[in-house]
Amino acid sequence: MRPTDQLRALSDRHSAHNYHPLPIVVAEAEGVWLTDVEGRRYLDMLAAYSAVNFGHRNPRLTEAAKRQMDRVTLVSRAFDHDNFGPFAAELAELCGKDMVLPMNSGAEGVETAIKTARKWGYEVKGVPADRANIITFEGNFHGRTTTIISFSTDPDAKDSYGPYTPGFRTVPYGDAAALRAAMDGSTVGVLIEPIQGEAGVKVPPPGFLREVRDLCSANGTLMIADEIQTGLGRTGDTFACDHEDVVPDVYVLGKALGGGIMPVSAVVADADVLGVFRPGQHGSTFGGNPLACAIAREVVAMIKTGEYQERSRRLGAHLHQRLAELPGDLVREVRGRGLWAGVELHGKARPVSERLMDLGVLAKETHETTLRLAPSLIIEKTDLDWALDQLEAALKS
Ligand SMILES: *Cc1c(COP(=O)(O)O)cnc(C)c1O
Repeated sequence: MRPTDQLRALSDRHSAHNYHPLPIVVAEAEGVWLTDVEGRRYLDMLAAYSAVNFGHRNPRLTEAAKRQMDRVTLVSRAFDHDNFGPFAAELAELCGKDMVLPMNSGAEGVETAIKTARKWGYEVKGVPADRANIITFEGNFHGRTTTIISFSTDPDAKDSYGPYTPGFRTVPYGDAAALRAAMDGSTVGVLIEPIQGEAGVKVPPPGFLREVRDLCSANGTLMIADEIQTGLGRTGDTFACDHEDVVPDVYVLGKALGGGIMPVSAVVADADVLGVFRPGQHGSTFGGNPLACAIAREVVAMIKTGEYQERSRRLGAHLHQRLAELPGDLVREVRGRGLWAGVELHGKARPVSERLMDLGVLAKETHETTLRLAPSLIIEKTDLDWALDQLEAALKS
């Protein structure tokens, strides 16, 4: 048996089948390129769902991690460490906020934002006990915990996991009138992806984020932007909310914040919001650990240069121009912003991603008919063009 088949048989037998990966087995990576166990090279057009925005094994990030691994990696939040305060200050400053609450996975970040909004609702806004509601949007993806899937509208993500957590209302994405109608005095938060990633890179109508902001302000409700996938350069701005000059009350960050090395997430907000937490009321053994902080500080420093946002804007314009030139009988619609595209096909996307793999390009379908393209922001134009040539070939064959 080929090494690929041997290894895949092992995963198939001994790991739960909660993913449907492309049939390759990666051994190494550098920049935008992956090498499989048989020495074949592939251009990575997924970048771990934007967790690898700065490329695989980005030298600045691996250096920061290695330096930190020779000093201290974990103390828990029982003790402060010399990267924690600077990490919190630097990330808060990047977001224009006062405070940070660090966690690990994105889902934990979202859970933390939900707890923040509820606690703020009871203790600051004055909502009667256990009556808080949070508004979410159809097609949302915010993670996989039992509470988060309670407000999912995707049967795959939700079914058979009940009983579900109450306290959420769901309205159509992009529908400001429905949002206004769903809000009441007990609405403590509106949880929104400024562009819906897992739903297939769905961009809301122009002005919608501004309307959400205004409705939240008028209602005294927290606007919570889940920028876990959209944030840190992906859309050509530091945050996708920047595109409409919207500043949410709460940012949830994850994915790229960990530099493609480890899970790092955070909730970022002002002191009148995150100030609701007292010792013992929330926490995480690994959240804000020295290694995570060292990596995330480097990520923040890199994002502060503006270089990655500029690349995403410039190369993203090229990406979208080339995708727009694809014939309509191959592509139904292209959505996205910056180096991020959802390519809506007429038929199933899986066979296309498999053909692309044979041509040396890795991209993944999301839902049935959407192909998602999200290369690392460090990609060179020649590599991007080559990947798009392969996409055209895969669509035509
Ligand atoms: C990936 C993602 C999450 C969940 O992050 P995990 O690290 O997988 O838990 C939450 N929200 C959005 C928008 C995401 O894209």
